[in-house]
Amino acid sequence: MFDPKLSQLVYGMINYLYQEQNWQSQMSQLITDPNELLDILQLVPEQLLSGAILASEQFKLRVPRAFVAKMQKSDPLDPLLLQVLPHHLELEEHAGFVTDPLGEEAANQLAGVLHKYKSRFLLTLTGACAVHCRYCFRRHFPYQENLPKNDDWQQIKSYLLDHPDINEVILSGGDPLTLSNRKLAVWLERLASLQQIKILRIHSRVPIVIPERIDEELTYLLKNSRLRVILVVHANHAAELDATTCGKLAQLVQQQILVLNQSVLLKGVNNSAEILVELSQRLFEAGVLPYYLHVLDKVKGAHHFDLQANTIDQIYTDLLANLPGYLVPKLVREIAGEKNKTPLFGAVTF
Ligand SMILES: *Cc1c(COP(=O)(O)O)cnc(C)c1O
Ligand code: SF4
Repeated sequence: MFDPKLSQLVYGMINYLYQEQNWQSQMSQLITDPNELLDILQLVPEQLLSGAILASEQFKLRVPRAFVAKMQKSDPLDPLLLQVLPHHLELEEHAGFVTDPLGEEAANQLAGVLHKYKSRFLLTLTGACAVHCRYCFRRHFPYQENLPKNDDWQQIKSYLLDHPDINEVILSGGDPLTLSNRKLAVWLERLASLQQIKILRIHSRVPIVIPERIDEELTYLLKNSRLRVILVVHANHAAELDATTCGKLAQLVQQQILVLNQSVLLKGVNNSAEILVELSQRLFEAGVLPYYLHVLDKVKGAHHFDLQANTIDQIYTDLLANLPGYLVPKLVREIAGEKNKTPLFGAVTF
């Protein structure tokens, strides 16, 4: 006996339960099997699957169920699905698409540390992410050899003291919010013990893919630090911002935590001004401001997300025409060796 109404009801209840689960159990139940993902989404196209399995051998599928619940069923082109489903096009070689597009290996002085910009210091405490985004520039980065061990703090501390210009530490990825609150608390305390550090920035996609990560303990931790805390989340499409997600982000904003969003401009996902306008508006409803719109880093395996310069130009022109200035993210590219992210629009002429 198969009653579609009943199965829909059951599915709805399961979704509800996942939403209610704490974030650790969601982390332990990530989907890593392309078959299972397609099954949940009621997709069967064979060619998608064979390519997906091959591509996932290079960079594993990894996606939380709460994020999958935001996808449309039976839509192989769902913009959220395209961000996470391994694709056979990833296996193609393309000129200019390399494993380390940002030359980060060269910028590495200490394990887990990147100091490329004057006042900011980027610290990677974990190589793990809650989701694997197919376009990620870190998909080939050798995390494992490159994480600080617990007693590396003394070295990091000396480095910071030797560079008094640094007043902001950015916890980045991997994804720092895959760490336990207890581990985060230890690092927050360490960093707050240095008077020169004023700002702690956390770059994380976890609040978008597992909104329950914003639990009371974390909120308390961020709110009560001596450091001014900025959370930069990463959403590319308004469909990623459902009521639960927006509610959690708004909760942080209410605690005086500045929440910003960065996106990557991706073919097939958000390559229209209309989609980006909706994203900015939805973010604003949650009290979040758009920060950066990155053009794709030319990482091997991500060529099929790439857009032509004139297309990007047109999208950004339309975005400017359709949003108030405070809802327009800065269009940037990261160029190896530059002192800052490079703005890409409107060459200045006096
Ligand atoms: C992006 C980035 C930062 C932060 O740059 P902002 O422009 O301040 O957001 C800092 N360090 C590194 C290595 C980065 O890649
Ligand atoms: S570092 Fe960010 S963009 Fe890359 S896979 Fe992890 S969550 Fe996705």
